[in-house]
Amino acid sequence: MIHQSMKTIGLLGGMSWQSTLDYYRLINEGVSQRIGGLHSAKIVMYSVDFADIERLQHAEDWPGMAAILVEAGQKIAAAGADCLLICTNTMHKVAPEIADSISIPLLHIADATAEVLVKDQIESVGLLGTAFTMEQGFYRERLADHYGLTVLIPDQRDREIIHKIIYQELCLGQVIPESKDQYLRIISDLADKGAEAVILGCTEIGMLVSQADAPIKLLDTTQIHAQKAVEYAVRGKHRAC
Ligand code: GLU
Repeated sequence: MIHQSMKTIGLLGGMSWQSTLDYYRLINEGVSQRIGGLHSAKIVMYSVDFADIERLQHAEDWPGMAAILVEAGQKIAAAGADCLLICTNTMHKVAPEIADSISIPLLHIADATAEVLVKDQIESVGLLGTAFTMEQGFYRERLADHYGLTVLIPDQRDREIIHKIIYQELCLGQVIPESKDQYLRIISDLADKGAEAVILGCTEIGMLVSQADAPIKLLDTTQIHAQKAVEYAVRGKHRAC
């Protein structure tokens, strides 16, 4: 009945803060649904300044970003978190450095997403995200090598459109109908190329498109990752009477 042993979730957020808001809400809604009553999630959050991260991303200074996020992750662990979520797909590029620097488990966003795909017996999946996530190996190879998934990405021109909308609109909280149309066109193209589902592999994309708009299954990584954290925190707990 009393959930003293509910685990504390660590959130490394601010990338961008628009989607960190969604993490906070989704995790609290999930705990409320699972346990009920006035229960809410125990959360330790460290929110970085995204302008610093974005500048280093586009300078490809991954060691510089790893240093910032390792320090933040260590602070979250020291503040009592039992697990850590990096609240962005892109910055999972430095997940190994962060995981190695802390003694609490890092719940990897690509693993959480791949587990849903495997459960749904999906083998071929489209991936939308920043250019870093779509083009570099750290995300696609994890899906392919660890889970046997075939990962399809849009062509170069459409990758540029996707990337630009993330940084110039969604991370600034702007939701523009023409951009939604572009995303839906690109999702349909991926379906035509053989994708059975599409990963919304950027934590802000759910602001723009939702399942009801799309011709095939969408995997919103923000929702899936937040749900993973809820399951970790409340594992073995029962609904309050
Ligand atoms: N939140 C986005 C993602 O999931 C993009 C912002 C970032 O580069 O971290 O990749």
